[in-house]
Amino acid sequence: MKKPILIGNWKTNPTTFAEAKKNILAIDKKLSNKKQNYLLAVPDIYLSSLKEIKTRAQIGVQNINGVEQGAHTGVSTAQMAKSVGATFTILGHSEVRKEGETDEKINTKITQVLASGMDCVLCVGESVRDKEGKYLKFIEQQLMIALKDIRKDLFSNIIIAYEPIWAVGAKDPATPHECFEVAIAIRRTLTGLATIDHAKKVSILYGGAVDEKNAPIFIKDGGVDGLLIGRASLSPDSFSKIIINCHGK
Ligand code: PGA
Repeated sequence: MKKPILIGNWKTNPTTFAEAKKNILAIDKKLSNKKQNYLLAVPDIYLSSLKEIKTRAQIGVQNINGVEQGAHTGVSTAQMAKSVGATFTILGHSEVRKEGETDEKINTKITQVLASGMDCVLCVGESVRDKEGKYLKFIEQQLMIALKDIRKDLFSNIIIAYEPIWAVGAKDPATPHECFEVAIAIRRTLTGLATIDHAKKVSILYGGAVDEKNAPIFIKDGGVDGLLIGRASLSPDSFSKIIINCHGK
């Protein structure tokens, strides 16, 4: 089995660059085994300074704007993020979708991100579950639009994060069984969009109320290749325990 991909999403935290630096160094210090590593989606204003630090984290951002270079005040492009060292970006996080982000806009952004040479972590997920399984259709639609006309040979640079909105920032996560069902559905949709070989190259993550206890259970029983971690990634203690519990001591 591949080593689980563990991505921390710091959102709009911490308050200062000094704290961000302290946090990364504290996470690294708690990791001893060379096999243990992680990705961290940081506020983009901290990016280039964090890249100066010697760390085992791969640093990325949480969104890009989607405009072309030119007369757009106050935003930056995928190419700009890549040029200061971002190796990936999250796209389509539910907190961004809540502000009006559409699947069509995400599709444009994915094209730009992949062209820049960064990887993209595409978030999908339903806000509610129904008995008839409409949520599976909803996720399929999100994928079909966001990945429309994306070059199949670049599928290996795409990660899909299944984040049920009802579990993001909540007390309880989905169950590994609920996660497993959606992971299969995602893989089936990807196979329909490309070939099974391309679909297999896409890693699928789970996100939503992940902590040090449930993290290894999702990896074992959730049918996913890794995790996207919000709150717990802000605590060096919790985040390092998640990494150790999933990558081994
Ligand atoms: P959470 O957030 O782990 O705090 O639930 C997950 C996310 O927003 O990616």
